[in-house]
Amino acid sequence: MPELPEVQMVVNELQERLTGRRFAPGATFLWERTAGFPAAAEFAERLAGREVTGVRRRAKYILVDLDSGEQLVIHLRMTGNLHFADPSEPPHPHLRARLPLSDGQELRFADTRKFGRLYLGTPLELEAVIPLHRLGPEPLDDDFTVELLRSRLSRRHGAIKAALMDQALLAGLGNIYADEALFRARIDPRRPADTLSDSEVAALHAGILASLHQALGSGGTSFRDYLSTYGRKGDNEENLQVFRRNGEACLRCGNPLQRIVVGGRGTHYCAVCQV
Ligand SMILES: [Zn+2]
Repeated sequence: MPELPEVQMVVNELQERLTGRRFAPGATFLWERTAGFPAAAEFAERLAGREVTGVRRRAKYILVDLDSGEQLVIHLRMTGNLHFADPSEPPHPHLRARLPLSDGQELRFADTRKFGRLYLGTPLELEAVIPLHRLGPEPLDDDFTVELLRSRLSRRHGAIKAALMDQALLAGLGNIYADEALFRARIDPRRPADTLSDSEVAALHAGILASLHQALGSGGTSFRDYLSTYGRKGDNEENLQVFRRNGEACLRCGNPLQRIVVGGRGTHYCAVCQV
């Protein structure tokens, strides 16, 4: 599932490939529910003729700014993929939406699991539909400090792993980078968030940044599903230190890594050096 680094890679490409281009009439949804808001017919009508003025990321959402002041918001969820194609190119087997561009190409949205959503509206309309205002701070922003992380965690009694994945506490982390950050910080994923010492919070802050920056530098983590808009896989899987490495030797102490369930999610960690 794409997390912050993977969504950022897509945003970087769209910034380059979509900015300045204009949507044409005729957007179609092959799976109606992919149009999260408004319904497909109104979606197509409002998108027609709009020029893209910029592309940004907020948490795991892709925000495409339009010259009308509206935004096209894309949430890839588990398996969503954006790519460009000529109309004559055979469709992806799980194609869910075609958004034609005025230059003849189309932006296509494929999504095997069908959880991905496209939204279109003014910022005010969108706030009522997707909770962007409730999202926590961006970990790559300058104002994401050790102190900010400490104050947010100090109010949480639940497992630190679950807290890190809560988008209202911190934006953009999912299962992969929560596990990786906790391993780097040597913290047991089950620890109550409010029991971390100041030095542990500082180590966790550093671990979050290091695992995200490494992933960004490697084009993100792909496994089966995530692909860039060019259809490329990311190379970060080889950099992962614990995620899905259960049974393999810990890179720090050599003991076999474990897989447990925390907050309903498969969690990978070293029972010896994460305490
Ligand atoms: Zn270890």
